Amino acid sequence: MARAFGWFLALVLALSAFPAIGGEPNPFLPREEEEEDAPAAEPKKTEKTPGRTATQDPKFLPFTPEGQAPGNEKQDGPKPAPQAAPAPAPAAVCESCKGTGYLPFRQPGVAWIQGEPIPGGRGPAPYQPCPKCKAGLDAAGLEADGQRRMNVAVSRHAGLRQESGLNFLLGQTRHVAVHSQLDANRTRAVLAALNAFTDLVQQSTGVTTLAQTRPDTHEIVVINDQASYSKWLDYLQKQQPGSDFSLAKGSGGMVGWKLSTFRSDKGTPPENCALHQFGWMLMEEATNGKAPAWLKEGFGAYAENAITRKNLMYTFHYEKNEVQFGQNWNEDAQKFAKEQKLKPWEYIFPLDLIGMKPLDYISCYSMTSFLIQANPKAFVDMLLKIRAGTDSKTAMEAAYKRKVPELQAAWGQWIFTQR
Ligand SMILES: [Zn+2]
Repeated sequence: MARAFGWFLALVLALSAFPAIGGEPNPFLPREEEEEDAPAAEPKKTEKTPGRTATQDPKFLPFTPEGQAPGNEKQDGPKPAPQAAPAPAPAAVCESCKGTGYLPFRQPGVAWIQGEPIPGGRGPAPYQPCPKCKAGLDAAGLEADGQRRMNVAVSRHAGLRQESGLNFLLGQTRHVAVHSQLDANRTRAVLAALNAFTDLVQQSTGVTTLAQTRPDTHEIVVINDQASYSKWLDYLQKQQPGSDFSLAKGSGGMVGWKLSTFRSDKGTPPENCALHQFGWMLMEEATNGKAPAWLKEGFGAYAENAITRKNLMYTFHYEKNEVQFGQNWNEDAQKFAKEQKLKPWEYIFPLDLIGMKPLDYISCYSMTSFLIQANPKAFVDMLLKIRAGTDSKTAMEAAYKRKVPELQAAWGQWIFTQR
């Protein structure tokens, strides 16, 4: 298993690393948690480097293999210079499955815990072939593929334990592997929450666009104490000697396209942490890493609220005195809407995670929730356009067939219908 997990890091975005806005970095801390030993960091302006565009602290760019951006590149907003011609329109996709080739397969979710037999039949196979574009596909092949993926996750888990020296329990859904330091029951509750969310998005959208992660390729690591967290970061550091984990050390976790980590010993229910990170990962996968920050962050918060009705996760560092959050951002959105404090969408689109403030996050959450709930099919179309390289505004206006100011006005009304 020499470098079996080396690729891992290549795709990690250390959200934990976002430089401070007003103090020490403490992004991704559960609510009301503060780290004492967060290292200081200087905020960095977005800058372009040849061959890639970055909005993050360049220290964390080594996580990004050249030419394979993990999705944090700037998508929107004022451009310093005219850009090259926009990406060509994507080839027409199958209208039935939106190009994934598969449709949701309705059956109870898999919440598998290490030691149990790998489920047979359609258990691990999350899709059914699209009757329009994959009509001839054999379901047996899908079943075999689902089982193979679960078995790959089992071997990866064994390697991870051995190489990191950490004791984890493996849990799996059809969409993600969870290497967990929680007990089996608590881990199963996390898996159930993740299943509930993949069910919800597939039911609401009718397609699998937002359920394309897999347990052999997408992983969430749940760490339950400081010593293990240090050990885990040391392990990651060994795997990626060129990366700097010093900032991640002062935080409660980090989120990435293929791998996320959170600490479950900080008082926030692990379901909230896992849902937030999983939402982010689903969005990365759906857009092939091209989702802008507002959409990833908004979708993570949406996932958390949709299943738990609470928002307890912060993936940012905030200015402590600006606003106080409640536990349900719907209520906060109403309050700030009444006070006319919510930010215009054109302001939100180009934000990167370094500069985002509390109201920005509430806006991202509320915008994303509005867009997917008001018209889930248009939401998927917007994602496909973003995946094809279109900026937020253009993708949104084309998918929803309305101009941003109109959508924003509708959102302003919708906010007050939410509980
Ligand atoms: Zn199709």
